[in-house]
Amino acid sequence: MENKKILVTQPVMPPLDEFVKSLEKIWESKWLTNNGQFHQDFEKALADHLGVKYVSLFSNGTLALISALQVMRITGEVITTPYSFVATTHALRWNGIKPVFADIDPVTLNLDPKKIEAAITPKTTAIMPVHVYGNPCDVVAIKEIADIYGLKVIYDAAHAFDVDINGNSVLNFGDMSILSFHATKVFNTIEGGAIICNDEATKKRIDYLKNFGFAGETKVIAPGINAKMNELQAAYGLLQLDSIDDSIAKRKIVADTYKKCLKDITGISFLNDMDGVKHNYAYFPIFVDSKEYGKSRDALYEELKSHNIFGRRYFYPLISQFPTYSGLPSASAGNLPIAERITKEVICLPIYPNLKLCEVNEIVNYIYNFKSV
Ligand SMILES: *Cc1c(COP(=O)(O)O)cnc(C)c1O
Repeated sequence: MENKKILVTQPVMPPLDEFVKSLEKIWESKWLTNNGQFHQDFEKALADHLGVKYVSLFSNGTLALISALQVMRITGEVITTPYSFVATTHALRWNGIKPVFADIDPVTLNLDPKKIEAAITPKTTAIMPVHVYGNPCDVVAIKEIADIYGLKVIYDAAHAFDVDINGNSVLNFGDMSILSFHATKVFNTIEGGAIICNDEATKKRIDYLKNFGFAGETKVIAPGINAKMNELQAAYGLLQLDSIDDSIAKRKIVADTYKKCLKDITGISFLNDMDGVKHNYAYFPIFVDSKEYGKSRDALYEELKSHNIFGRRYFYPLISQFPTYSGLPSASAGNLPIAERITKEVICLPIYPNLKLCEVNEIVNYIYNFKSV
C-alpha cells in the first residue's frame, strides 16, 4: 500500500481483444475519419444511451465548447462560473467574448441564479454554467432568467455524463450541452467530446463547423475548424458504452463508503446526493474547515501525498485568479466570496470503479489520524 501510488482517477478501458476486432475492421475499410461507420454508430448509440435528441462528436471537449459558441453566434459578454476547469473560460476568450464571473451557490457549488441575474448588462448574450462534479445546476431558475432576458444557455456538462434529473438527462436543459470524454472523465474516448442539441438544423450547423465549415463539396458557410473525432476513438467509445453502467454503480459504492467513514471526522465535509438526481460519482470532493479540523487543506493534501495518495485540488486556483483573467472587474475577490472560500477548502479524493474499499478505508484513516486533537 505504502509503495503503490493512488491517483485521483484511473481510466476504464474497453477489453483489448474487442478493440482489436474493431481495429481490424478499420484496417479493412481504410476509412479513418470524416463521419465513418464507427462515428455514425457511436453518435446514434450515445444519443440512445444518454436519452438526448442529437449528438455531435468532437475530438475533445474544449473544441466542442469553442464551436458551440460559434454555432450560436454568441458575442459580447457571457456570464460564467469561476469554479471550474480553465477550459470553460478559455472557450469564451477564444471567441473574443468577455467572461463575466458570477459567484456560486454554497451548497451546490454551481452558479447562483441570483448572482447571474445581477451580472446581466446590455452586452450579455448568454450564460455558460457548469454542472460542477456532475451535480446539476438550478436548471429551472437559469431557464427562467434566460427566457426573461433573452439569453442563450450553453452548459459545460463535461462532468455530467449520465446524470439525470427526475429521469430526464441533465443534457436536455439549455440550448446546448457540452461533454468531455477526456481520459480523466467518467466516460472516456482517450480524448474526445460532444455537443448535445435539441433540433436537426442546429445539429447540421454544428457538423458543418467542426469540419471547416463545409456544407457540401464546394460550399463553405462559416470559418469552421477541424474538430472531428476519428474512427479509432469512435470505435473505442462504442465499446465503452458496454461498461459505463457498471462503472457508475462501482463509483457509487466508493462514494458511499467515503461518506460513511468521513461523516464523523470534525472539520471535513462532503456533498450529499440531491433529491431526484441520478448522480455519476465522477469526483469525490471534500472540504477542509481548517479551524475545526486543526490543519489546513494544503497540509492535509501534502500529508496524503506523503502516503502516495494523490488527490487533486479541483478547483484551485479559481479561473478568475489566473493572471490572464484576474484583471477583469468581475474577478475581484469581493465579487466572488463563496468561490474564494471553497477553493481554499477543497480536495478531490481518489475515486474510480476499481478503487478497493480497503484503499478507501486507508485514505480515510490518514485523514482521521492527521486531525489535530
Ligand atoms: C475536462 C473539462 C473540459 C475540457 O474538456 P477536454 O475534453 O479535456 O478538452 C471543459 N470543462 C470542464 C468543466 C472540464 O472538466
